[in-house]
Amino acid sequence: LMAVGVLALQGSFNEHIAALRRLGVKGVEIRKPEQLQSVTSLIIPGGESTTMAKLAEYHNLFPALREFVTTGKPVWGTCAGLIFLADKATGQKTGGQELIGGLDCTVHRNFFGSQIQSFEAEISVPEIAATEGGLPTFRAVFIRAPAILEVGPEVEVLADIPLASDQNVNSDFTSESQEDNSGSLKKVIVAVKQGNMLATAFHPELTADTRWHSYFVKMASEVGIGTSNSASTSGEH
Ligand code: GLN
Repeated sequence: LMAVGVLALQGSFNEHIAALRRLGVKGVEIRKPEQLQSVTSLIIPGGESTTMAKLAEYHNLFPALREFVTTGKPVWGTCAGLIFLADKATGQKTGGQELIGGLDCTVHRNFFGSQIQSFEAEISVPEIAATEGGLPTFRAVFIRAPAILEVGPEVEVLADIPLASDQNVNSDFTSESQEDNSGSLKKVIVAVKQGNMLATAFHPELTADTRWHSYFVKMASEVGIGTSNSASTSGEH
Protein backbone atom coordinates (compact mmCIF):
# COMPACT_ATOMS: atom_id res chain seq x y z
CA LEU A 1 0.00 0.00 0.00
CA MET A 2 1.24 3.41 -0.95
CA ALA A 3 1.86 5.64 2.07
CA VAL A 4 2.27 9.39 2.36
CA GLY A 5 3.30 11.16 5.56
CA VAL A 6 1.14 14.01 6.83
CA LEU A 7 2.59 16.41 9.38
CA ALA A 8 0.03 16.12 12.18
CA LEU A 9 1.00 18.81 14.66
CA GLN A 10 -1.93 21.12 14.03
CA GLY A 11 -4.33 22.17 11.28
CA SER A 12 -6.07 20.24 8.52
CA PHE A 13 -4.09 16.98 8.65
CA ASN A 14 -7.20 14.80 9.10
CA GLU A 15 -8.72 16.26 5.95
CA HIS A 16 -5.54 15.44 4.00
CA ILE A 17 -5.56 11.88 5.34
CA ALA A 18 -9.22 11.53 4.32
CA ALA A 19 -8.47 12.82 0.80
CA LEU A 20 -5.59 10.33 0.47
CA ARG A 21 -7.85 7.53 1.71
CA ARG A 22 -10.32 8.30 -1.08
CA LEU A 23 -7.46 7.57 -3.49
CA GLY A 24 -6.59 4.33 -1.72
CA VAL A 25 -3.43 5.83 -0.22
CA LYS A 26 -2.52 5.59 3.44
CA GLY A 27 -1.81 8.88 5.23
CA VAL A 28 0.67 8.41 8.05
CA GLU A 29 0.54 10.93 10.89
CA ILE A 30 3.95 12.46 11.57
CA ARG A 31 4.62 14.13 14.92
CA LYS A 32 8.16 13.11 15.79
CA PRO A 33 11.47 13.24 13.89
CA GLU A 34 11.95 9.46 13.91
CA GLN A 35 8.51 8.96 12.30
CA LEU A 36 9.76 10.78 9.21
CA GLN A 37 11.97 7.78 8.52
CA SER A 38 8.89 5.63 7.92
CA VAL A 39 7.71 7.70 4.94
CA THR A 40 9.19 8.91 1.68
CA SER A 41 6.84 11.78 0.93
CA LEU A 42 5.15 14.35 3.13
CA ILE A 43 2.18 16.73 3.15
CA ILE A 44 2.37 19.78 5.39
CA PRO A 45 -1.22 20.92 6.02
CA GLY A 46 -2.82 24.31 6.44
CA GLY A 47 -3.36 25.70 9.87
CA GLU A 48 -1.58 28.43 11.73
CA SER A 49 2.06 28.58 10.84
CA THR A 50 3.33 30.24 14.03
CA THR A 51 1.65 27.58 16.17
CA MET A 52 2.85 24.84 13.85
CA ALA A 53 6.41 26.19 14.02
CA LYS A 54 6.33 26.27 17.83
CA LEU A 55 5.12 22.68 17.95
CA ALA A 56 7.71 21.60 15.39
CA GLU A 57 10.40 23.26 17.46
CA TYR A 58 9.11 21.63 20.64
CA HIS A 59 9.29 18.20 18.98
CA ASN A 60 12.72 19.00 17.50
CA LEU A 61 11.38 18.38 14.00
CA PHE A 62 13.14 21.11 12.03
CA PRO A 63 16.46 19.33 11.36
CA ALA A 64 14.65 16.17 10.18
CA LEU A 65 12.18 18.17 8.07
CA ARG A 66 15.02 20.10 6.41
CA GLU A 67 16.87 16.90 5.67
CA PHE A 68 13.68 15.38 4.24
CA VAL A 69 13.27 18.32 1.86
CA THR A 70 16.92 18.63 0.85
CA THR A 71 17.31 14.92 0.10
CA GLY A 72 14.71 15.37 -2.62
CA LYS A 73 11.75 13.58 -1.09
CA PRO A 74 8.42 14.88 -2.39
CA VAL A 75 6.85 17.44 -0.07
CA TRP A 76 3.57 19.35 -0.56
CA GLY A 77 2.70 22.35 1.57
CA THR A 78 -0.84 23.75 1.62
CA CYS A 79 -1.42 27.26 2.96
CA ALA A 80 0.46 27.31 6.30
CA GLY A 81 2.46 24.42 4.81
CA LEU A 82 3.45 26.66 1.91
CA ILE A 83 4.66 29.27 4.41
CA PHE A 84 6.64 26.55 6.18
CA LEU A 85 8.42 25.56 2.97
CA ALA A 86 9.21 29.10 1.83
CA ASP A 87 12.67 30.57 2.17
CA LYS A 88 11.16 33.85 3.30
CA ALA A 89 7.87 34.95 4.89
CA THR A 90 6.74 38.54 5.17
CA GLY A 91 3.60 40.33 6.25
CA GLN A 92 1.65 40.82 9.40
CA LYS A 93 2.17 38.59 12.38
CA THR A 94 5.38 37.18 11.01
CA GLY A 95 7.27 37.14 14.26
CA GLY A 96 10.43 35.57 12.93
CA GLN A 97 8.94 32.11 13.14
CA GLU A 98 11.17 29.27 12.09
CA LEU A 99 10.65 27.94 8.57
CA ILE A 100 11.80 24.74 6.92
CA GLY A 101 12.78 26.64 3.78
CA GLY A 102 13.98 25.21 0.50
CA LEU A 103 11.29 26.71 -1.69
CA ASP A 104 12.89 29.71 -3.37
CA CYS A 105 10.10 32.24 -2.87
CA THR A 106 8.80 35.00 -0.67
CA VAL A 107 5.34 34.49 0.78
CA HIS A 108 3.20 37.15 2.33
CA ARG A 109 1.20 35.76 5.24
CA ASN A 110 -2.50 36.58 5.52
CA PHE A 111 -2.14 38.43 2.24
CA PHE A 112 -5.85 38.65 1.46
CA GLY A 113 -6.86 39.89 4.88
CA SER A 114 -8.56 38.36 7.88
CA GLN A 115 -10.72 35.27 8.28
CA ILE A 116 -13.85 37.08 7.10
CA GLN A 117 -12.14 37.90 3.81
CA SER A 118 -11.65 34.23 3.03
CA PHE A 119 -12.87 33.41 -0.47
CA GLU A 120 -13.05 30.88 -3.25
CA ALA A 121 -11.66 31.38 -6.74
CA GLU A 122 -11.61 29.43 -9.97
CA ILE A 123 -8.05 28.66 -10.95
CA SER A 124 -6.66 27.12 -14.10
CA VAL A 125 -3.86 24.54 -13.96
CA PRO A 126 -4.04 22.52 -17.17
CA GLU A 127 -1.16 20.23 -16.22
CA ILE A 128 -2.84 19.06 -13.04
CA ALA A 129 -6.43 19.24 -14.23
CA ALA A 130 -5.45 16.77 -16.92
CA THR A 131 -4.46 14.13 -14.39
CA GLU A 132 -8.06 12.90 -14.29
CA GLY A 133 -9.46 14.49 -17.38
CA GLY A 134 -12.57 16.45 -16.60
CA LEU A 135 -12.73 20.14 -15.78
CA PRO A 136 -9.84 22.39 -16.83
CA THR A 137 -10.18 24.46 -13.66
CA PHE A 138 -10.28 24.04 -9.89
CA ARG A 139 -12.40 25.70 -7.25
CA ALA A 140 -9.74 26.87 -4.82
CA VAL A 141 -10.53 27.65 -1.18
CA PHE A 142 -8.49 30.47 0.37
CA ILE A 143 -8.64 30.81 4.16
CA ARG A 144 -6.50 33.59 5.62
CA ALA A 145 -4.25 32.53 2.83
CA PRO A 146 -0.74 33.60 1.99
CA ALA A 147 0.22 34.79 -1.50
CA ILE A 148 3.53 34.21 -3.22
CA LEU A 149 4.99 37.58 -4.21
CA GLU A 150 8.39 36.58 -5.56
CA VAL A 151 9.84 33.37 -6.98
CA GLY A 152 13.36 32.31 -7.87
CA PRO A 153 14.45 30.94 -11.26
CA GLU A 154 13.99 27.28 -10.30
CA VAL A 155 10.36 27.77 -9.37
CA GLU A 156 7.63 26.79 -11.80
CA VAL A 157 4.48 28.87 -11.40
CA LEU A 158 1.43 26.58 -11.65
CA ALA A 159 -1.32 29.10 -10.93
CA ASP A 160 -1.91 32.74 -10.22
CA ILE A 161 -5.06 34.72 -9.59
CA PRO A 162 -5.91 38.31 -10.52
CA LEU A 163 -6.56 40.57 -7.59
CA ALA A 164 -10.12 41.84 -7.54
CA SER A 165 -10.21 45.62 -7.52
CA ASP A 166 -12.03 45.57 -4.20
CA GLN A 167 -9.83 42.88 -2.71
CA ASN A 168 -8.54 44.02 0.61
CA VAL A 169 -4.91 43.06 0.46
CA ASN A 170 -2.47 43.55 3.26
CA SER A 171 0.07 46.16 4.25
CA ASP A 172 3.08 46.53 1.98
CA PHE A 173 1.22 45.45 -1.15
CA THR A 174 -0.38 48.84 -1.69
CA SER A 175 -3.37 49.74 -3.85
CA GLU A 176 -0.94 51.53 -6.14
CA SER A 177 1.01 48.35 -6.77
CA GLN A 178 -2.22 46.45 -7.42
CA GLU A 179 -2.15 47.82 -10.94
CA ASP A 180 0.65 47.32 -13.39
CA ASN A 181 1.74 49.88 -16.00
CA SER A 182 -0.95 48.89 -18.47
CA GLY A 183 -3.60 49.60 -15.86
CA SER A 184 -4.67 46.00 -15.62
CA LEU A 185 -4.90 44.29 -12.27
CA LYS A 186 -1.93 42.51 -10.89
CA LYS A 187 -1.83 38.84 -10.21
CA VAL A 188 -0.45 36.96 -7.28
CA ILE A 189 0.97 33.46 -7.43
CA VAL A 190 -0.97 30.78 -5.54
CA ALA A 191 0.57 27.47 -6.65
CA VAL A 192 4.17 26.53 -7.44
CA LYS A 193 6.45 23.58 -7.98
CA GLN A 194 10.18 23.44 -7.49
CA GLY A 195 11.71 20.01 -8.05
CA ASN A 196 10.40 17.77 -5.29
CA MET A 197 8.36 20.57 -3.70
CA LEU A 198 4.74 21.42 -4.45
CA ALA A 199 3.05 24.33 -2.68
CA THR A 200 -0.46 25.77 -2.80
CA ALA A 201 -1.86 28.81 -1.01
CA PHE A 202 -5.31 27.19 -1.01
CA HIS A 203 -6.81 24.02 0.48
CA PRO A 204 -7.62 21.15 -1.91
CA GLU A 205 -8.13 18.93 1.16
CA LEU A 206 -11.25 20.91 2.06
CA THR A 207 -12.96 20.05 -1.22
CA ALA A 208 -14.24 16.80 -2.72
CA ASP A 209 -11.85 17.28 -5.65
CA THR A 210 -8.91 14.90 -5.26
CA ARG A 211 -6.95 15.95 -8.35
CA TRP A 212 -4.24 17.77 -6.38
CA HIS A 213 -3.81 14.76 -4.12
CA SER A 214 -3.63 12.52 -7.19
CA TYR A 215 -0.99 14.78 -8.66
CA PHE A 216 1.09 14.70 -5.48
CA VAL A 217 0.74 10.93 -5.11
CA LYS A 218 1.99 10.66 -8.68
CA MET A 219 4.95 12.93 -7.85
CA ALA A 220 5.64 10.72 -4.82
CA SER A 221 5.50 7.48 -6.78
CA GLU A 222 7.51 8.74 -9.76
CA VAL A 223 10.66 9.21 -7.72
CA GLY A 224 10.37 5.52 -6.97
CA ILE A 225 10.42 5.95 -3.23
CA GLY A 226 6.71 6.35 -2.68
CA THR A 227 6.14 3.11 -0.85
CA SER A 228 7.29 2.14 2.57
CA ASN A 229 6.89 -1.17 4.34
CA SER A 230 7.51 0.24 7.78
CA ALA A 231 4.92 2.98 7.44
CA SER A 232 2.06 0.80 8.60
CA THR A 233 3.63 0.16 11.97
CA SER A 234 5.90 3.02 12.95
CA GLY A 235 3.65 5.91 12.06
CA GLU A 236 0.80 5.07 14.41
CA HIS A 237 0.00 6.18 17.93
N1 GLN B 1 -2.95 32.50 8.02
C1 GLN B 1 -2.30 31.27 8.35
C2 GLN B 1 -0.84 31.49 8.68
O1 GLN B 1 -0.31 32.51 8.42
C3 GLN B 1 -2.42 30.26 7.23
C4 GLN B 1 -3.86 29.96 7.00
C5 GLN B 1 -4.15 28.57 6.56
O2 GLN B 1 -3.31 27.68 6.57
N2 GLN B 1 -5.39 28.37 6.19
O3 GLN B 1 -0.23 30.63 9.22
